[in-house]
Amino acid sequence: MMTGAEYIESLRSLKTEVYFMGKRVESVVDHPAMRPHINSAAVTYDVATNPETAHLGSAVSHLSGRTINRWTHIPQNQDDLVKKAMMLRVAGQITGTCFQRCVGMDGFITTYSTTYEMDQKYGTDYHERFKRFLIATQDKDFMTDGAMTDPKGDRSKSPSQQHDPDLFVRVVEQRPDGIVIRGAKLHQTGAINSHQILVMPGQGLQPHEKEYAVICAVPAAAPGVVFVFGRQVNDSRKWEGEIDQGNATYGTVGGEAMIIFEDVFVPHERVFMNGETEFAAMLVDRFASYHRQNYGACKSGNLDVLVGATAALADIHGVAKAGHVRDKLTEMAHLVETMYSGALACSFNCTHLGCGTAFVDQTLANVSKFNTARYYPEVTRLAQDIAGGFIATLPSEKELENPRVAKYIHKYYQTRPDVPALDRIRLGRLVENMTGATPIIECMHGAGSPQAQKVVLQRQIDWLKRIKLARRIAGVANAEAPK
Ligand code: SF4
Ligand code: FE
Repeated sequence: MMTGAEYIESLRSLKTEVYFMGKRVESVVDHPAMRPHINSAAVTYDVATNPETAHLGSAVSHLSGRTINRWTHIPQNQDDLVKKAMMLRVAGQITGTCFQRCVGMDGFITTYSTTYEMDQKYGTDYHERFKRFLIATQDKDFMTDGAMTDPKGDRSKSPSQQHDPDLFVRVVEQRPDGIVIRGAKLHQTGAINSHQILVMPGQGLQPHEKEYAVICAVPAAAPGVVFVFGRQVNDSRKWEGEIDQGNATYGTVGGEAMIIFEDVFVPHERVFMNGETEFAAMLVDRFASYHRQNYGACKSGNLDVLVGATAALADIHGVAKAGHVRDKLTEMAHLVETMYSGALACSFNCTHLGCGTAFVDQTLANVSKFNTARYYPEVTRLAQDIAGGFIATLPSEKELENPRVAKYIHKYYQTRPDVPALDRIRLGRLVENMTGATPIIECMHGAGSPQAQKVVLQRQIDWLKRIKLARRIAGVANAEAPK
């Protein structure tokens, strides 16, 4: 396993083609817009190697028997799923933001069972290929971008009906030695700091849409792979200074990027689905469940930080003992624990797939993510309520070096003699960072928009059973009756 520092160093030798603000980025590691996200991803390496957290962050590979980073592990049992959730909460507490590596993890877990089931049906050898790829990934401890979200074009149309056939990643050429893929994936968390990309379909497919049914692994530096790093609210603060960022070490959400596949060749050895359209929906469905499990865990870890920042500010402001402040802080904590309980519950209530992989309870996993989309904004609202309006009007950190006004910033932002104004400013900036538009949108749409979770719930809930329960207790004649 690599440490965080070794992971960061390993990125230096990657010759990826990355663009930001119209320019090619020579070194992602040294770029101020990217480094915080890289530091955050590095925490996934440290959680696995630090003796205090290694019991969560590492696992024994069921394939090689070797100790590996849990972000590359296929959960074999309930304990693995519970530890996955616990690991994410811990990493979320350390970073206060997204650490990015879980999309690739869930891509591995899902591709593992999907390839197994494809082989069962068709006698293909995708599963053996995938196992070889996975063992190599585990042994090298690579960070992998799980690339699922296509541009999608007109949402009322399927991939083959779009005005441009490239709006979903597709195979444009079948060669004797491999395939050639074209298209793009959007909103790719951790993409520019991954060693490789696991490309997967992003939705169910019609039988004639074989060219879109593709799972394959591509090195991040493969010819024709182009990354375009996205902008974020307030991102220029990253190259202007430190304090105003709020979370200068780890950044804000996942440092998302667009990945363009400009006719990229992939050898057969790295192709894990090639035309099996009927397995696309199953893959997406399973992937979504594992990733929705995560949200109740990583975001509750992040919000532990926000609860702490809010409580600290309440204390600095002298309102910590006010009844309504204590009540609101308690409400924040309650919402956070509710989010986390979904992540744990879907892990405890797991089943096993044919290949042996432990599978989260889909209903509870979707509840976990739905609660996150609902409660993260609610917790941020309460944080802003308690923290006060100053978080939206703070002067720039540059004023702290401005000889004309610096002493007044320190003087008028100080609330008590024993607490320097800078403590209040730093905590205020952290609250601003965590309650802004970007993390809230991320909690809304990451792992699927809330409506996607409702669709699964509508499908999963046994409505008739519930009606029968009520009819029996209410004494309605013939409890078995209607549909
Ligand atoms: Fe992991 Fe959470 Fe980031 Fe998704 S949003 S990659 S689950 S930290
Ligand atoms: Fe996410």
